[in-house]
Amino acid sequence: MAQATARSVFVTGGNRGIGLAIARSFAAAGDRVAVTYRGEEPPDSEGFLAVRCDVTDSQQVDQAFKEAESAHGPVTVLIANAGTVHDRLLVRMSEADFTSVIDTNLTGAFRVAQRALRGMLREGHGRIVLISSTSALHGAPGQTNYAAAKAGLVGFARSLTRELGPRDITCNVVAPGLTETDMSRGLTAEQRRDLLRQTPAGRPGRPEEVADAVAFLVRAGYVRGAVIPVDGGAGLGH
Ligand code: NDP
Repeated sequence: MAQATARSVFVTGGNRGIGLAIARSFAAAGDRVAVTYRGEEPPDSEGFLAVRCDVTDSQQVDQAFKEAESAHGPVTVLIANAGTVHDRLLVRMSEADFTSVIDTNLTGAFRVAQRALRGMLREGHGRIVLISSTSALHGAPGQTNYAAAKAGLVGFARSLTRELGPRDITCNVVAPGLTETDMSRGLTAEQRRDLLRQTPAGRPGRPEEVADAVAFLVRAGYVRGAVIPVDGGAGLGH
C-alpha cells in the first residue's frame, strides 16, 4: 500500500539478496529508495537510485548520502544491510580475516548510521534497522569474526536507543537465520543440512520474509533497541 508521504530510504547492499528484497518492499510502498552497490547495479527495471558505495570507506559513504539526499531529500529510513563473511576456524584466522569482516559488518553500520543520523536529527524523525544474524546470538563455528560483528550491532542499537531518548528516531536489529541468497549459496551441503536441522521451520527463509520484519520495525515507533529474529525458530529465545 502506498504511503501518504514517500520516505527517503537508503539501503546498503540493496543491489541483490536480502537488501534488494528490502528495497523492493519500500518501493512497492511508494517510497523513494536509494540502494548502494559496489560492482553490479541492481536490476534495471527496479526504479531505484543506485549509488556506488563501499561501506568501508567513509568518503564513499558521505558521497552516496549526498547523491541520495539530492535526489530524494533527507534520508529518514536507513537499512544497514551490507555484509560479508570470511569463515575460518579461529586457529587459522588471520588478523585481516577478522578485521575486514568487522570493518564491513560493524564499522560499516557505524559509518552509515552516523551519517544518516545528522539528517534525522534535523528532521526530528528517523528509522534505522541493522541487519544482524542468528550467528550473533548463537555463535557458529568458523564465524568468530562475523558473529562478533553481528553481536556488536545489538549493543550498538541499544546504546544508540538510549542516546536518542524520547526523539522519534528508532534503531532496531533484525537477525535472519539461513536465508536463500548468494551468501548462503556459499555454504557446503553439510553446513546447510546442519543449519536446517536446527531450524524448526525446516526450510531456509526467503529474502522477502526479512523485508517483512524490516517494514514492521519502520512502522513501529514504540519498538526500540529490539532484536527481531527471522530465522524459522532456529534461535528460539536467542
Ligand atoms: P549477499 O552476499 O547476497 O549480499 C551482500 C550484500 O552486501 C551485497 O549487496 C554486497 O554488495 C554488499 N556488501 C558486501 N560488502 C560490502 C561493502 N564493503 N560495502 C558495501 N556493500 C557491501 O548477502 P545477503 O543478501 O544474504 O546478506 C545481506 C545481509 O544479511 C548481510 O548483512 C548478511 O550478513 C545478513 N545475513 C544473511 C543471511 C543469509 O543466510 N543469507 C543470514 C543472516 C544474516 P556487492 O554486490 O557490491 O558485493
